Amino acid sequence: MKCRYCGDVYSENVIDLHEGRCPERPKEKELKISDLNAEPAIELANKTDDIDKIIAWLAEESQGKDRKTVIDALETKMKELEGEE
Ligand SMILES: [Zn+2]
Repeated sequence: MKCRYCGDVYSENVIDLHEGRCPERPKEKELKISDLNAEPAIELANKTDDIDKIIAWLAEESQGKDRKTVIDALETKMKELEGEE
């Protein structure tokens, strides 16, 4: 099957996985952790399973508002995701 973004061919069982991570995939409205209040930001961190996002948010938050509670939630999640791989 062909990736609808980059056109590379993948087998049926990995095409969804690839499309989810395809570098050619158009950026969705990128959610900025700094646009959120601490509470929804933490909630978002907790339900996100994409370590790349978590890392990006961690960088964004530490260079921006640097809220300890948000940083803690992101770091905890990052360790959790790293542990799974
Ligand atoms: Zn692709």
